[in-house]
Amino acid sequence: MRAFQFTQAKTVDAALDPGSRFLAGGTTLIDLMKLDVETPERVVDINLLPLARVEAAPDGGLKIGALVRNSDLAVHPEVKARYAVLSEALLSGASPQLRNMATTGGNLLQRTRCYYFRDTAYACNKRQPGSGCPAMDGYNRIHAVLGGSEHCVATHPSDMAVAMMALEAVVHARKDKRERRIALDELYLLPGTTPDKENVLEPGELITYVTLPKLPAGTKSHYLKLRDRAQYEFALASAAVVVSVSGGRIERARIALGGIATKPWRSREAEAALEGKSASEENFRAAAEAAMHGAKPLRDNKFKIELAKRALVRALTVMTA
Ligand code: SF4
Repeated sequence: MRAFQFTQAKTVDAALDPGSRFLAGGTTLIDLMKLDVETPERVVDINLLPLARVEAAPDGGLKIGALVRNSDLAVHPEVKARYAVLSEALLSGASPQLRNMATTGGNLLQRTRCYYFRDTAYACNKRQPGSGCPAMDGYNRIHAVLGGSEHCVATHPSDMAVAMMALEAVVHARKDKRERRIALDELYLLPGTTPDKENVLEPGELITYVTLPKLPAGTKSHYLKLRDRAQYEFALASAAVVVSVSGGRIERARIALGGIATKPWRSREAEAALEGKSASEENFRAAAEAAMHGAKPLRDNKFKIELAKRALVRALTVMTA
């Protein structure tokens, strides 16, 4: 780890230094600093900022402070009662110790687990633009089948963000005196030719809270994660489903997939395939086919396409049973 300047901010205004990295739970940043993947010159600790509350939002939704810990959010009564998909996604992530530290804002911005990105002995376009992508011809079992480019195929590792994508969360961010709202689907960038640019936030822009809209009456939701072991493992494929069913017909569907794409993957194709249809396995399978249409496998990850389809069919089946 390289030497860096460390400060602690007590107000949001004091934290907003464009040249600093924000430190919350540290479950990504500190790891990457120890590996010399992240080498900030200045780090500002934001743990004392008043952003650790979950509150009712004026529109009937929920307002979640950026510093709310994953473990607290997972068991919050409103989250468990109204946004089950989010609670389930949080509890499927990492370990209890990590969830006790990890925060809402940090979870959204956590960086890829691509082995080549985390090992400075290898080239990596995301770490060092223009240096190459060894995952293309290397071992790429965990990499993306959707949203990739010839420059990067790294998956986004968050479970929480996949659930929030299906819930149509909105991110609220502060830079200088400016506050702005960013639909979560617009927060993340595809790698394209610039995989080092992962989101639309500007240097020094701080996520302050996330809002979840009120869901229509009768909406049910579920998160299903498939992985190599039952705990403390990232998704090979996951599905977040938020669906309203009336009289056996699907009135409204919001679908997101994890573990298979370069960002938390909202599937409007699957949603269109479901809405207005009966809640049947045949229609779930058609939605899964639509969701994975256009997927591009690499040498070692073709299995993810069928795995993601089965995850979505299973999540819809469980939720509508
Ligand atoms: Fe780097 Fe992306 Fe290639 Fe991984 S997939 S080595 S993060 S450029």
